[in-house]
Amino acid sequence: MNEQWIYLDGQYVKKEDAVVSVYDHGFLYGDGVFEGIRMYDGNVFRLDEHVDRLYDSAKSIMLHIELSKEEMSDIIVDTLKKNKLENAYIRVVISRGVGNLGLDPFTCRKPQIIVIAEQLALFPKSLYETGIDIVTVASRRNRADVLSPKVKSLNYLNNILVKIEANLAGVSEALMLNDQGYVAEGSADNIFIVKKGKILTPPGYVGALEGITRNAIIEIAEKAGFVMKEEVFTRHDVYTADEVFLTGTAAEVIAVVKVDGRVIGDGKPGKYTNQLLQEFRNTVTQDGRKVYKQNAQVG
Ligand code: PMP
Repeated sequence: MNEQWIYLDGQYVKKEDAVVSVYDHGFLYGDGVFEGIRMYDGNVFRLDEHVDRLYDSAKSIMLHIELSKEEMSDIIVDTLKKNKLENAYIRVVISRGVGNLGLDPFTCRKPQIIVIAEQLALFPKSLYETGIDIVTVASRRNRADVLSPKVKSLNYLNNILVKIEANLAGVSEALMLNDQGYVAEGSADNIFIVKKGKILTPPGYVGALEGITRNAIIEIAEKAGFVMKEEVFTRHDVYTADEVFLTGTAAEVIAVVKVDGRVIGDGKPGKYTNQLLQEFRNTVTQDGRKVYKQNAQVG
């Protein structure tokens, strides 16, 4: 097994030595932002969009990243090379940094930048064949005017509470509503429904992260000539949809076949879901940034 190297504040350290201070406000207060990115066969899928979202999240919470976006992208690519990876999950974390015990972020000297790249743990293939069951949870999405769900912040308690509820109900994913009861998203995935040939996903203002996978699926659906709309919808629309699927960096496109005990369509992944997953998988090795030069060997 190869040594795993973590990028931590300007240097590469071994996984065992990659530790941060207990005075880091990321640890004390969840004060920071992050990204989850994926590399497919040496191609970092939509790297620029992930880096843009990271910088937008940081700007929103007044966290100044001293590196340019190009420098940040290069660090991500270098971390993948250093770990000799071809298929990987990448986690970028920017915390407010080390300060004192007070809340004031301006006591923190400088943000801490961490890049972790690991061999990808794939979702089991069988889940794509059978689809998954989900339930609506009582926890609601953070109100967009309180802590914007568009900020991919280190404060994921909202999503963690949702995950706990789903687990207690015996399923792995959840349907999360916003404060008004409209469908928002999953615990860490965006949601789409298909009804009479029309594909719908909630607009950003309903309270969902603007997923990079979501955006890719919207583009793929439009290119394929499908009717694709961002629209507000309710649980009733989910229950009576012909197809339901979730999207995310880890999940890609995964069919939902049961929601709160209601069987969706014929209880199997539907044809739109399957086609979109297929077309998504066709683009993931092309759309993004190549880490290794053509024909170069890894290692
Ligand atoms: N919603 C939330 C709350 C998330 O954390 C994520 C990321 N896992 C998503 C949606 C999906 O976004 P992406 O497609 O960029 O992974």
